[in-house]
Parts: sequence; C-alpha cells; structure tokens
Amino acid sequence: MPVNPHEHRYAATASHSSLYEGEVSGEILLDSQSFRFRSEAGEVEIPLDRLQIERTGTDQFLFYDPEQTDWSVYTSEPGILSDYYFKRRNSIRLQVREILAQREGLRTLRLAAVFLACFAALAGLAWMSSGWVLQFLVNRVPVAWEKNLGQSLLDEAREDLHFVHDPKLSATFGAVTNHLLRGVGKTDYQFRFHLVADPTPNAHALPGGHVIVNTGLFEMASSPRELAGVLAHEIAHVTQRHGMRKMISTAGPYYVLRLFISDQAGFLAAVSEGSQLLLQQNFSRELEREADQIAWQYLVAASIDPRGLAEFLRKCRDAMPAAQVTGRLNRLLSSHPPTEERIRHLASLWQAAPRKSGFVELLNDTGP
Ligand SMILES: [Zn+2]
Repeated sequence: MPVNPHEHRYAATASHSSLYEGEVSGEILLDSQSFRFRSEAGEVEIPLDRLQIERTGTDQFLFYDPEQTDWSVYTSEPGILSDYYFKRRNSIRLQVREILAQREGLRTLRLAAVFLACFAALAGLAWMSSGWVLQFLVNRVPVAWEKNLGQSLLDEAREDLHFVHDPKLSATFGAVTNHLLRGVGKTDYQFRFHLVADPTPNAHALPGGHVIVNTGLFEMASSPRELAGVLAHEIAHVTQRHGMRKMISTAGPYYVLRLFISDQAGFLAAVSEGSQLLLQQNFSRELEREADQIAWQYLVAASIDPRGLAEFLRKCRDAMPAAQVTGRLNRLLSSHPPTEERIRHLASLWQAAPRKSGFVELLNDTGP
C-alpha cells in the first residue's frame, strides 16, 4: 500500500449498514482534500467540505457524510480535532469549536455535580458527626494559609492593641514561655507572644501561632506556673487548630465549599469575613476541654507543675462577684464559659496523674 507522506493517520473504527457484525477496525487518513477511512472490510472517502463531526456519549468522535449515510467512522483520538488539515477548513473549524465548547460545558456541569454530591454527603455527615467532618476540613487547610490568616488578623487588630515593651516583664515572660515551649516540642507553628496593655486577665491565640497576652493576666496570675498554665492552654488552641475549627463550624456550608475549590487568596477572602469572631474567642466547651487536656500534657512534658491552670481558673471564679460590677472579669468568664467544669476536669487529671512531684521551679515559683 503506497504511503502518502502528507497524510495524517488516526486509529479508528467504523460501522457500515452491511456490517451486521458491528464495527471494523482501521484507520483514518487525512489530507488537504479528504477524509478517508480504510479497513480490510472496505473504505470510504469523504470530501472535507462535506465532513460532519459529532461527539458521542462515550467520548468518541463520530465522522460521517450526509451523502453516504451508510458509513459511520469513530475515533477516540482527541488529537484529531486539532489536526492541521481540519484547522484550515472553516466548516470543520466551526464544528470543532462547538464540540470543544460542549465538552467544556459538560465538564463544568460534571464538576458542579461532583461538588454538589460531595457537599450533600458532607452536610449529611456533618449532621451525624460534626466533629469528625470538621476535623477533616480543618486538616485540608494548609498551615501556611492559617499563618497568613493569623498574621492579617494581628495586623488588623494592631490599631486597637497597645503593645507593651517592658524589659522586666518581657524577661519574666520569656523565661516562662521558653521553658514551656520545650514541653510543646516540634510543631508546624512558631509561637510569637505579644504583650498588650489591657487590664482584663486574658489571652487570645490567633490561628498560626500569634498569642496576644494582656498585662492583666500578670496581675491575676501570681505565680509563673499559673501563667504557664494559661499560656499552655492558648498554645493548645493553636496546635489543635481550634481557630480554624471554629471558623469553619460557624461559617457554614458556603465556606466549606470554598475550602474545596479555593486557592489561598479565595480562602482568605472567604474566611476573613468571619474572622473577627476569632478575636472574641468563644470556643465551645468541647474545644476548651481539649485545650486543657493538651495543655496539661505540654506542662508535664516541660516539667512544669500542671496545677497552675486550675489555680488560675479558681482565682478568676473567686474574683467573680466583685468583678461583675466592672464587667471585665465577667467578659473573661463568659469567654471561657464552663469555668467550674474546667476546674473539675483539671482536678480529675491531677488525681489520675502518675507524677505529682519533681517539677521545675519557674523563677522562685512557690505557688499558693
Ligand atoms: Zn480557651
């Protein structure tokens, strides 16, 4: 069989009205004038001007000639659509464009369907076991995104915060945090502690590692181990990604969907709408409990007496009646609602603790 070097070839199958057995295999030969299908069972030639192209449901391309309707030629080689000879024919170019547009439209539809299905499944699952699904979603958020989010939150809040640069306070503080971080060990986060002038005895952990610590905390926490306890709790909020969890759970289905399809910019844009919530940190009972539990492990690993956190909470509780007048402590306690419950939980941890002595002294830490 003579081979024409100008012909382009594509593997194909064809059916003919006489072939009751179905299809025959062969090849398509293209040149500047015609489309030919050649096989052992026969061949057909279609002038390019008459060639009709359609896409079949099975992702094949169908070629036929309205004047020789007994032949249908199929190929699944998508490259044929961009063939040089096809591109030079206006009539064919238009058909190809339509086929590609259809395919694009179908793909979009299919993607949308997949997302909807995922979403419906997720919504169902979320309803059944929100904790598990949430964690799954949170795990999908890259730590780098989380850090950027925390940074932009800090930048936003900067105007309202009065950062304190007190060398003496910073030295005390640094000694406690350095020691504590040894117990935290290696994580994906770098912790940065920011002292701000605010009399409320409180601290806020932002996603990604920034922890804002009010000077009021130092007034309330009379011993370094109390301070260490509170900071360990905040660090646990960071490492367990509670900020993300809270944002995703309060943000609702829209954000969930965004999480699946967004790049970082889209993600930040989506979550920053709800991010102010993070500065009024109302974590759920469950997350507070988890943070206490993890904080306990950090403290013990750092050889710090883990009772400091409960001691601090008790102090807050006891100061409550007097402080209700000012509303300051009230705010603190309402942002960590089940204080009593936490105290009980921490007491039970101490009861079950295998180690009850031999903790380090943090700067003349005598405790109460
Ligand atoms: Zn907390």
